Amino acid sequence: MNRNTAQREAIRRSLQEAGRPLSAVEVLELAQRDVPGLGVATVYRTIKTLIEDGTLIAVPLPGSSDRYEHRDAASLHHHHFICNDCGRAFDVPGCSMAFQGMAPPGFVVSGHDVVLYGRCDRCNQGSNGS
Ligand SMILES: [Zn+2]
Ligand SMILES: [Zn+2]
Repeated sequence: MNRNTAQREAIRRSLQEAGRPLSAVEVLELAQRDVPGLGVATVYRTIKTLIEDGTLIAVPLPGSSDRYEHRDAASLHHHHFICNDCGRAFDVPGCSMAFQGMAPPGFVVSGHDVVLYGRCDRCNQGSNGS
């Protein structure tokens, strides 16, 4: 396996094992375990390649850096949760919101963009009740 392939594999695997959308910096931290010396520029370049070949998609999050997830994971309609404390993003499966009912009379809703914010389970445990 040449170095490029090893890098791409490590990045792909990092996202798969994390099971949640990752920022480029998070990908870097995980992939460095497999490819010591991996640089952030390489991570960005590889992510770009993986987006172009349809493996990954970019998840734009308002007020935060883009996250990346596998196209397979993204093919089912879902939303994201951002923890205000640790900054990690998570998948929120499914969607039960009736947005058509929020639209003014005569308007047709064709899509929506919802991001949940709060505190993840781990951060919530650390600061119980405060
Ligand atoms: Zn958190
Ligand atoms: Zn939805």
